[in-house]
Amino acid sequence: MFFVDRLELDKTLRQLRSIYGQVDEGLRGWNWMSDLLSPPLENVHLGVSEIANRYCPTFRDIYLRRIEGVEAPYTYKTIRGWLYHAVSSKTVQEVKAILYKEEINGPRLYSELLVRRKKIIDEILEKYKVERRLGEAESEKLRKEMETIYMFLALQAAAQLDKILAKVKWAEVEDLVSIIVPMDVERVVDGSLLGLSKELRIDIFTDKRLVVDIKTGDARDFHKYALAGYALALESSLEIPIDYGMITYLSVDKGVVKISNNTYFIGDELRREFLEIRDEAFNIIHRGEDPGKPPKCPRYCIYYNVCNPGEPP
Ligand code: SF4
Repeated sequence: MFFVDRLELDKTLRQLRSIYGQVDEGLRGWNWMSDLLSPPLENVHLGVSEIANRYCPTFRDIYLRRIEGVEAPYTYKTIRGWLYHAVSSKTVQEVKAILYKEEINGPRLYSELLVRRKKIIDEILEKYKVERRLGEAESEKLRKEMETIYMFLALQAAAQLDKILAKVKWAEVEDLVSIIVPMDVERVVDGSLLGLSKELRIDIFTDKRLVVDIKTGDARDFHKYALAGYALALESSLEIPIDYGMITYLSVDKGVVKISNNTYFIGDELRREFLEIRDEAFNIIHRGEDPGKPPKCPRYCIYYNVCNPGEPP
């Protein structure tokens, strides 16, 4: 499944199922009309990461963005995140498209992907205006890293295809796609019943009803809250239970793709904590007052230079 070994995932989910119990029905997204889940304000819709990325303990980031209209400044790391996400999802989409070609096999899939590599990466770099935003040297570095991710995914897809073709006499193309790419990338879900954005984009939603959020920076404990937000939104929209989520940390180190996966049971506690953070974010918007800064701002906060002008980042 590209970023996670399928057998490893099955094992992890089995373990989580044996450790954790049921989710309280009252905390399922389809109960969005309840006092606990319904949004505190009408016609306000927040992004899941906007709520979950709790760099700022006083929620001043929400005040700055939503009341003062100060957009989060972008940094090299922000742009790197955009590009890693874009190249990952585009490669998966390309694999799906090529699998529908006749007489496809591993080497053909791989060489088709190779032919398309430059065009795809150029288009992504252009779309995000990378050279204008970062300059030549940093753009080139990111281009190489995108190529590394692209080739990594291409090799995996080709190897998986041949593995399956070696086992079966004949397979419908739909079956091949569902085995090799058992997921939707950038799955759009409407979270508005819960006060979330109408067009939330989930990085990966797998056939095992697993929500995957890809992160490209350092691991932070609050990343798990995004999984609860997406699970609640999916439940409110599809009315199916979503119990598991995964944070995939993706990086490139010296030309090698590094992946680390943290899998979570999206249980009562995680859901309650996400809802408390959501409600506090809405409170900040409702009050419209500057909540002030915490005693110490983390250097990695995206608003660091806005709230601490003159200080080195
Ligand atoms: S810089 Fe400090 S006050 Fe500003 S948003 Fe970040 S943590 Fe909050």
